Amino acid sequence: MDPLGLARLRYYAIQNTNGTPNHWAFNIYKIGAAPTGSSSPWNSIKAGTELLYDKGGNFLNSAANPSRTANNFVTWNGTSSIMSNFRKYYANNYYSPLAGSSPGGINYEVTISDQAARIMIYGLTKSGGGKGDLTCTKLLTGAPLSSLLPGITVPVVPGSTPANRNWPYRAGETVGSVIFPVTLTANYTNNKSVSLQIGTNTVTINPSGLAIRITQGSSTLSGAQLTAEVARRRAQFQRLGVLIDRNGAPSAIWLSTLYDYAMSDFGAAMFRRVLAEYDDVVRRRLVDQNTGLLTTRGQNPANNPWSTQDPRVAQNQPYEPFKLISSTYGSTKNGRVGTGYTKYDFMLDSSGFAQLKAQAISFVDTPLNQYPGSGEQIFYMAVVHHEFGHSRYGDTGVNHTGVQIKPNGDATELFAVDAYENPVRLMYGYAPRYTYYNGTVLQGCSQYKTGSCP
Ligand SMILES: [Zn+2]
Repeated sequence: MDPLGLARLRYYAIQNTNGTPNHWAFNIYKIGAAPTGSSSPWNSIKAGTELLYDKGGNFLNSAANPSRTANNFVTWNGTSSIMSNFRKYYANNYYSPLAGSSPGGINYEVTISDQAARIMIYGLTKSGGGKGDLTCTKLLTGAPLSSLLPGITVPVVPGSTPANRNWPYRAGETVGSVIFPVTLTANYTNNKSVSLQIGTNTVTINPSGLAIRITQGSSTLSGAQLTAEVARRRAQFQRLGVLIDRNGAPSAIWLSTLYDYAMSDFGAAMFRRVLAEYDDVVRRRLVDQNTGLLTTRGQNPANNPWSTQDPRVAQNQPYEPFKLISSTYGSTKNGRVGTGYTKYDFMLDSSGFAQLKAQAISFVDTPLNQYPGSGEQIFYMAVVHHEFGHSRYGDTGVNHTGVQIKPNGDATELFAVDAYENPVRLMYGYAPRYTYYNGTVLQGCSQYKTGSCP
């Protein structure tokens, strides 16, 4: 059934054999007949024209390509072995699931209007001088050709609460869970170092150089709007200094990851929630705005304004401020003399427990590259989002039913994997995480795992 007769666009996340992302490619096909009587130049693109865009890959200029070309793209019309050769080439030389023989997917088909498909092909072929430049703005009154690329809709994870469902992978705080392949559509590179005031120390955070897509609502940002949004997010990140434990800050790799996270659409939205609560408790004089520590007033349980059901408080306890800490400190769960904290309820990076009132995220100083048990590649920014999913700013998904849970397995972990970690992985070209292990004990499988859970 194809009542609308839309064209198709299939994204391919090409990965190295060790599971790290390499680049994104895409194929446009099933373009219908052009409207008659139109003078739009892109209507010269004939029905059935196909496009393969593969910038950053080795296929187009290889002997495996029947239409060998040095460009970023190739177009054709009619029967061709290009796409089957393309899939075979990357399956043999890169990561095998691209061939479609393995469970889950790192290729995603979406629909695209015939007109958008035509403008894309015409723009890459003609307007950009045949160089395949997705940043070309000539045809779309200032917007780049890449703005025609549709997003990938990630499935809603059963058990999420309405307030947090469709967490903002696109932009804004209420839009659907649509993600964009980041390296194809990035409009910002995080390559400027930034200083953070942590206690009495000024710490320089080194940028990772990560490509990021920054959007605002569903519109395409202009140059000036993008510059303003970058500055706003960087300033918001700099406010986080008061939320970092002054005696036990996360290690440099995590601070750098938190910086990347702060610049992303979903991380910026998360930090807005965190800082809104912080501003509230400062206004209530429970936390000192200069130090981020509990005031004398805040240390008195009688001054805690929230009910015992509130995620921010345990019964008859003071308000528990949210902190980012190093596991070297946080793993003891004991507060430190002179900080005003009696204890930390925390989530340890990639293990530990799901408490909606969780007070801190505790980061292992030297994180692993692969998950024990599964051997799946770890993407640190996705781990940060996973942990925030467990936090009072996220959604533990206690009613989660959409996964295969093992006996005594932890459904809230699989929820964090599917609702928070996997969308971030998919945006950046990582395969979804299929499993969750506690150490080497399998807890269950994500919604991307088809077939039986090992
Ligand atoms: Zn977790």
